[in-house]
Amino acid sequence: MRRKIVAGNWKMNGSKDLARSLVSYVRSRVASLDNGVEVVIVPPAIYVGDVAESADDILAFGVQNVGQWASGAYTGEISAEMAGDQGCRYALVGHSERRQIFGETDNVVAAKVARLVGNKLNAIVCVGETLEEREAGKAESVVADQVRHGLAAVSRDQWSCIVVAYEPVWAIGTGKTATAQDAQAMHASIRKVLSEMGAPAEDISLLYGGSVKADNAAALFAEPDIDGGLIGGASLVAEDFVSICRAV
Ligand code: PGA
Repeated sequence: MRRKIVAGNWKMNGSKDLARSLVSYVRSRVASLDNGVEVVIVPPAIYVGDVAESADDILAFGVQNVGQWASGAYTGEISAEMAGDQGCRYALVGHSERRQIFGETDNVVAAKVARLVGNKLNAIVCVGETLEEREAGKAESVVADQVRHGLAAVSRDQWSCIVVAYEPVWAIGTGKTATAQDAQAMHASIRKVLSEMGAPAEDISLLYGGSVKADNAAALFAEPDIDGGLIGGASLVAEDFVSICRAV
């Protein structure tokens, strides 16, 4: 059975204070939710320890990126092993900001996915088309390619560690959300690609991301192939994030 997941991607935002205060608030509210949602906090790596202290087994947490190597002379990088060592259960891979600003290719995404699943961490693999690609009618094929290449090396017993997040690039941080129908259509198409790859597609959680807010979350999450969300801006406001977790 696939899981319902809401993950908050703080990006390069927040502070030690926020890591403690927001996480305690969210933990206390999420503890009384009975909708079965798994809530994941994804702060900047330097605050993972502070989040861990307040998460208290109620919330999962993770990192926004890991290196594609096990260890060694890679100044500035952290490894999947290190994330696991700190209690992380999740990591993002292939966020569009990583792809666009840091030149992360599908090959790099695949290498990072391999490091994560090899260490039994859940990889939230982000895919999504640009506005140009959507307007050219290529959205589905672009996303299908990202899924096929980024997940090419996942073996049969590793699929349970894979979560896919569909995040149309034009919807990230812009206030423009895909309509629930468009998002559902893309999620159904991703599930079809996964099944063609031999993955247990019905068991894989597919999250939508891109300007998810307290007031549009319920409509998105009501779609049959949308199993939760990857939340940027709204995850930094405790009440908004909790409302989104409630909307699952
Ligand atoms: P947003 O970001 O919710 O601020 O649009 C989503 C994301 O980048 O994961």
